[in-house]
Amino acid sequence: MAAGTARNFPVIREAIGHADALYGFKSGFDRQALNLGLKSGGYWPGNADKGLTNHQSTVFLFDADTGRCQAVVGGNLLTALRTAAASSVSIKHLARQDAKVIGMIGAGHQAKFQLRAALEQRNFEKVIGWNLHPEMLVNLQEVADEAGLPFEAVELDGMREADVIITITSSFDAILKADQVSPGTHIACMGTDTKGKQEVDPQLLVMADVFTDEVAQSISIGEAQHAVAHGLIQAADVAQIGAVINGTNPGRTSDAQITLFDGTGVGLQDLAVAATVVERARAAGAGTEIAF
Ligand code: NAD
Repeated sequence: MAAGTARNFPVIREAIGHADALYGFKSGFDRQALNLGLKSGGYWPGNADKGLTNHQSTVFLFDADTGRCQAVVGGNLLTALRTAAASSVSIKHLARQDAKVIGMIGAGHQAKFQLRAALEQRNFEKVIGWNLHPEMLVNLQEVADEAGLPFEAVELDGMREADVIITITSSFDAILKADQVSPGTHIACMGTDTKGKQEVDPQLLVMADVFTDEVAQSISIGEAQHAVAHGLIQAADVAQIGAVINGTNPGRTSDAQITLFDGTGVGLQDLAVAATVVERARAAGAGTEIAF
């Protein structure tokens, strides 16, 4: 995206007036990888009672030369993995090399994936966590145990100890205040992917250098929507993480700087992950070939 060879198409998200469902599409095209396709799905709140996941999605990949359908891939697990990969990539490129303490705000389904992927990026020595519903913190404890790291439940003030913070909640109000973040911290805000949602104090986006997957989404449905709406920052203050990865933006330039990644989730991530899965499935002789 930052190189200008891949783009996302406008997102569709609609209440369908049945089963309280929100349904939509995320799509895009990567001209270099030739990934063309869409993720279709949404949120069915009644699914839990049927023993199904409320979030449901399926990825469709198309041949960029002919438009023929190439693959249909289940998207539920892949969404969890690509979202975890996104904050992990932001840590790789923006966190201090000597980061030791990782702080988690949120302890639901997605939090476990985010924490697992984050732990791969630095030599973390401790996990700390806060969640509105403390009984869910056991999810974070489990991942810390897997990695052989100590876990400590903290109050929000305790987040000052963290070198890296990931927020992954469905909150509609700022949870983390600006004075609860220490200089040099990298924050990955991953929960806010809809208009109205919010996880951190807008002042944090003024203090921090802000990066995102897609600027248009960041300022409309991402964490930056609030700071922009209050006139505290502008779209031009939000940089693409792809530019840091490509080396055209320096990213972190000092140990005292706060960096903030606003991860909103884009269709190109879904296509990239699904295309890799299809390639690996072909190589392993897995998957089902259908003639049509
Ligand atoms: P979940 O329902 O399993 O967990 C929700 C979490 O939010 C829990 O930790 C819960 O305690 C907390 N929470 C709920 N209401 C809250 C409130 N009012 N204030 C503070 N915390 C609150 O959901 P999940 O699957 O873990 O997803 C978490 C969030 O991540 C959702 O908002 C989801 O839309 C978002 N998400 C974003 C992306 C992306 O690409 N950015 C991808 C997947 C999910």
